[in-house]
Amino acid sequence: MIYDELGVKPLINAAGTVTRLSGGIMAPEVAEAMRQASLACVDMVQMQAAACRAIRAATGAEAGIVTSGASAAVLLGAGACLAGLDPGRMNRLPEVADGRREFIVVRSQRNMYDRAIVVAGGKLVEVGIPDRYSGPGVRDAAAWEIEEAIGPNTAGIYYLAQTQSKPTLREVASVARRHGLPVLVDAAAQLPPASNLRDYLEEGADLVCFSGGKALGGPQSSGILAGRADLVGSALLQMLDLDVDVETWAPPREFAMLGQLRGLPHHGIGRSCKVGKEEIAGLITALNRFVAELPAARHARLLGRATRMLGAGGEGLSLTSGPVPMLAWKVGEGVRAMAAKLLAGVPSIACGMGRADEGVLLFNPMAITDVQADAIARAIAALR
Ligand SMILES: *Cc1c(COP(=O)(O)O)cnc(C)c1O
Repeated sequence: MIYDELGVKPLINAAGTVTRLSGGIMAPEVAEAMRQASLACVDMVQMQAAACRAIRAATGAEAGIVTSGASAAVLLGAGACLAGLDPGRMNRLPEVADGRREFIVVRSQRNMYDRAIVVAGGKLVEVGIPDRYSGPGVRDAAAWEIEEAIGPNTAGIYYLAQTQSKPTLREVASVARRHGLPVLVDAAAQLPPASNLRDYLEEGADLVCFSGGKALGGPQSSGILAGRADLVGSALLQMLDLDVDVETWAPPREFAMLGQLRGLPHHGIGRSCKVGKEEIAGLITALNRFVAELPAARHARLLGRATRMLGAGGEGLSLTSGPVPMLAWKVGEGVRAMAAKLLAGVPSIACGMGRADEGVLLFNPMAITDVQADAIARAIAALR
């Protein structure tokens, strides 16, 4: 085992597909696709064209590419909104000479991943007062407040897809469309349900970003950027190695619009989020597997694993509802000491601390095996 060789102790990751704990466990088919891809070299544009076909089929988007994560997809998506298909603008990012670099964001949707937009050269402009979170009221930003903030420097609208996000994506997209502006949607963790692969685009997103290393079960360092062909093409161009002979540059049919530029840009801002052929092969395989699994079967599989963690059950143990059912263990006082004990145990178990303030530990079925679920049940039984 490689981890023995490296002197790194593996753990059971019941915290979910978090980056800090290395994401999830890849299916053998996904790892095998990556292994096979590693055995021969290919033209990376051809590889992204293959990804484009798979992402189109899975999402209904005009185009799609594999990125090195959802965060990279947000960065590249912002770069596409800022530069379009203008190689001069691409070359200058993150500088935007004419100042058209503002992304409007509803204040309640601000999050630590939106800095990817700033890295690309964008500037976030917040609107709305989220009274419903602070308590004195029940309202959040309205679509007209977004509209009011639109000006000559607006490059796009950033939208964080969450079930509680307000205004609705449809309302935001309708404002954006009136002003000819793109909507960039971060939906990194909004799978399952699989229907979200299509829904945000159908509701009016111009670009949508998903993590490959979360529920999709792809490589941890993979993601998807899908949407309008011109914007996805721009993003691809800003990530590719463009140290090529301009005379012979001929993009594949999937990215035909890239053959009509007045010139080729140099290595773009996306170069820092480069993706390998292995990640692309793995992501395509994982995406196809994810789409092929029926929602009811997926739910049954995750519920089955959560039920295994529950073991014989008992007071304080319950299963949560939702697309990803989890085991909740009400420990009460000493919840953090209990988490530390699980982590120090053999095997070492990491659990979710999202409800620690209520005295609850969460055990997520997404990044563990059935055998590991049984080990969790035994560990909890021994500590209760
Ligand atoms: C997880 C997450 C990301 C980052 O995804 P990566 O694939 O790890 O880059 C971005 N945005 C949101 C909302 C997320 O939950």
